Amino acid sequence: MSTLQLLSYGSTLLAGAVLWILEAIVPYFLNRKRHLTHTLKNFTLAGINILIMLPLGVVTAYVLSISSDWWPGIKALPIESWQHVILTLLLIDLWMYAWHRINHRSEFLWRFHAVHHSDPEMDVSTAWRFHWVEIVMSELLRMPVFVMIGVRIEELLIYNIIMTPIIAFHHSNVNVPETLDRALRWLIPTPHLHRLHHSVIRQEHDTNYGSMLSVWDRLFGSLLEKDGKLSDLSLGLIGETDQNSQKLGALLSRPFKTRSQQNII
Ligand SMILES: [Zn+2]
Repeated sequence: MSTLQLLSYGSTLLAGAVLWILEAIVPYFLNRKRHLTHTLKNFTLAGINILIMLPLGVVTAYVLSISSDWWPGIKALPIESWQHVILTLLLIDLWMYAWHRINHRSEFLWRFHAVHHSDPEMDVSTAWRFHWVEIVMSELLRMPVFVMIGVRIEELLIYNIIMTPIIAFHHSNVNVPETLDRALRWLIPTPHLHRLHHSVIRQEHDTNYGSMLSVWDRLFGSLLEKDGKLSDLSLGLIGETDQNSQKLGALLSRPFKTRSQQNII
């Protein structure tokens, strides 16, 4: 295992563990009672995804290594190698923004992405709560995009090392001081921005799509921020906050239900 791979797994585990502890000490929403049960349920979905991502990760690494021999992508630009790395990280993040936004636009993709949004008690574990079909589609579709850009596997690992802790941070239920959140949101999507992205109100959850950087939301007019604490904000999806909707089987089968059986808004 390479150093970058180790750092990638290490940053994910460390950020997840630190934020999970902070959620218990300084929570933003105070009405959470089943922190551990909630985490275990979301991690069961995450476990399925890890089983899918491991082989797909090997395929991605192989595809990127052979494609770089015949298609340099942006590596053909006459700039310094560190500039190639920065540009590649920006383009990966731009793709992540676009893919996330498409998931909200397409009724078909939303069926799967809604499983992530249906969590009424969003916390750090929600960062890994995705339907496995969304993971498969995301991994397969990004491959040709990354080949076109000329992404190297090392650059993808660097992106993961930076992006994963930021994703964990903005999903977390940690009470970040407002002044700090305001300052950070000029650079990254913060908990304030991402809580609005998980609002039950569609006009609010169709905003703040950024993963690593908030600049794309500013550039493309999808940034939403509010003044003060979001005390009255309801998270999740309307009609899906009850225990039955949140069971593992219900979450896995939700995308395959008819419109009348599910709550498409
Ligand atoms: Zn979303």
